[in-house]
Amino acid sequence: MSLARKLFTVSGDNVELVRAQYAAFSKQIPLLYFILITNSLAICYAFHGVAPNYLSLYLPGALCLFCAARFVFWISHDAECVGDERALRLLQQANRLAIVLSFLFTAWALSLYHYGDAYARGQVAFYIAITVIGCIFCLMHVRSAALLVALVVNVPFILYFLLEDQANLRAMAVNIALVTVAMLAVLFAYYRDFSNLVESRKSLMHKQDETQRLSDENLRLANLDSLTELANRRNFFGALDEAFTAAKLSRRRLAIGVVDLDGFKPVNDTHGHLVGDRLLVEAARRMELCCEGVARLYRLGGDEFALIVAGDPSDRAIIDFGRRLIAVIRAPFYLGELDVRIGSSVGFAVFPDSADTPPRLYERADYALYYAKRHKRGEAILFSQEHEEQIRKYGVIELALNSADLESELSMVFQPIVDARTGRTLALEALARWTSPSLGEVSPANFIPVAERSGFIRRLTKVLLRKALAAANDWPEQVRLSFNLSAHDISAADGVLQIIDIIHRSGVDPRRIDFEITETTIAHDFDQACETIRALKALGVGISLDDFGAGYSSLSHVRNLPLDKIKIDRSFVVDITTNEISYNVVKALQSLSADIGVTCVAEGVERPEQVLALASIGCNIAQGYYFSRPIAEPEVAAYLLAGEREPGYRRAAE
Ligand code: C2E
Ligand code: CA
Ligand code: CA
Repeated sequence: MSLARKLFTVSGDNVELVRAQYAAFSKQIPLLYFILITNSLAICYAFHGVAPNYLSLYLPGALCLFCAARFVFWISHDAECVGDERALRLLQQANRLAIVLSFLFTAWALSLYHYGDAYARGQVAFYIAITVIGCIFCLMHVRSAALLVALVVNVPFILYFLLEDQANLRAMAVNIALVTVAMLAVLFAYYRDFSNLVESRKSLMHKQDETQRLSDENLRLANLDSLTELANRRNFFGALDEAFTAAKLSRRRLAIGVVDLDGFKPVNDTHGHLVGDRLLVEAARRMELCCEGVARLYRLGGDEFALIVAGDPSDRAIIDFGRRLIAVIRAPFYLGELDVRIGSSVGFAVFPDSADTPPRLYERADYALYYAKRHKRGEAILFSQEHEEQIRKYGVIELALNSADLESELSMVFQPIVDARTGRTLALEALARWTSPSLGEVSPANFIPVAERSGFIRRLTKVLLRKALAAANDWPEQVRLSFNLSAHDISAADGVLQIIDIIHRSGVDPRRIDFEITETTIAHDFDQACETIRALKALGVGISLDDFGAGYSSLSHVRNLPLDKIKIDRSFVVDITTNEISYNVVKALQSLSADIGVTCVAEGVERPEQVLALASIGCNIAQGYYFSRPIAEPEVAAYLLAGEREPGYRRAAE
């Protein structure tokens, strides 16, 4: 039963097959009606006047009219616009029509048969045989219909002629039977190939779809940051180019921002990368919410993010937006049992004010961020004319530094670190001075950052350390040397080896040396910094945490590093007598330092009231213009001698 259904009905199980059958069928079916009509008309012509009119005229006329209507229907039919369901219905309808029409035409032809003479009868046999072959070929793609036509026409036809008394007619019947079998064999083979073709095309299309999907997914992933699911660096630079072109064409402003999280590295180093990852994801989510409708957020890598602010934003709007971003990051993060606090700084640059190409715009925003991190941590900075001037100045400095004769152009001055109670000099901090033949005196506040940015600092440090140690060699044993190190100096093991080598060669006892490092120095790569610091400490040197509180300060540094001194940044000392917060911060730091056995040093002491305020807290070790300005090397000996002769001596170098 199921075999019969399979053979004689059109199944809708395979949509692709139905579609393909329909496409081929709808092209051939007009041809079928054409064959049917012309062949039938030829028979009508032969039997007109011989057979009764209802057989030679009316019945075939009606049948041909119906076929003509179907012909017109299929000719004017747009197969492309037919849905799958309708295609199936039309195929099934064709299947039913095949039975009806085959029956009617065969019955008609056979009922004419007896009216004709031998020639006319031969013509009827020829008509049926040739028409059925034509129709079967036209129905090749709808196997069931072809099969039904073959059966409905040929079975009665063959039986009819087999029962005839004439040998040649019986031979013809046998002939037709064999041809029918052969034709059906061809039909089956063709139909099998056809459905296989449809099937393989289907699987090919499926594979193509899959390949397309995979390549779309690859493209998506290539442009996505896998951790935060934000668009990534590559995506950012693509989008920047597009936004830039659009802004240029529409003559609108375009701002881009670079965001850097402050204090992320210590969290990552202290609590592990899993916590670090969760922090990044949460920070990204908060920023994204904040960016809604204003900007698009990208992750450039690490804890650095970028923003594209389109839509002609004003300077005010940009800064306000930056501040909102900073505020959402400042709010505490609750990560499981941890309560983590970090900060962020943002640098913005605007087209057309700051730059005229996308790479330059990015550079400017990056510079604004660098500026924020160095001078205004936790703030949003818009690249300005002043920065432009700085970049130019830094460019000039970099050029001069590259061609400088470091040995002769660099020198060291020394600023005392004193015990305020006795006025005794405990140590001298070495501060670099550079007299450039082309630029004159250049402040270390200018050339040290340039050297740090260009990676030149390690060469500088070697020269400076040698000079500082040579000077310290002449000082009394109890006077220590304090020397500043940069991030680059401690970020690689070979740099430290060089430092150790220089110390050994100098002949200065390492226990007389303190190295000053800032928090930004260690925040760069906490693990490496720790390793370096331990290697230095193994020599016997002391470690001071410089500018504490100036930037993003973390007590975890104080806890996790083997420190000997903490130098409280000048910004707290400046207003210690007028600002209660500063006073309390210094007080808290002093007591914390005392608790963990670290010496607290106050920097930038300029006035006697500050000394008194510090003394009331118990912070007696200090440095600043009040005690002495930095002293040129040749005068150090005299200064130290004077101090020994008169212990209360303070303002020696003024
Ligand atoms: P720093 O390490 O915080 O050095 C202290 C700076 O504050 C020095 O500026 C010093 O002259 C200044 N200063 C000291 N007392 C007072 C005061 O009472 N009031 C005011 N207003 N300023 C005071 P300087 O020499 O211009 O150095 C600036 C910065 O350059 C240093 O800050 C340090 O970060 C860097 N630097 C200087 N020499 C070196 C060096 O040899 N190597 C490295 N890596 N950095 C250095
Ligand atoms: Ca210092
Ligand atoms: Ca300092």
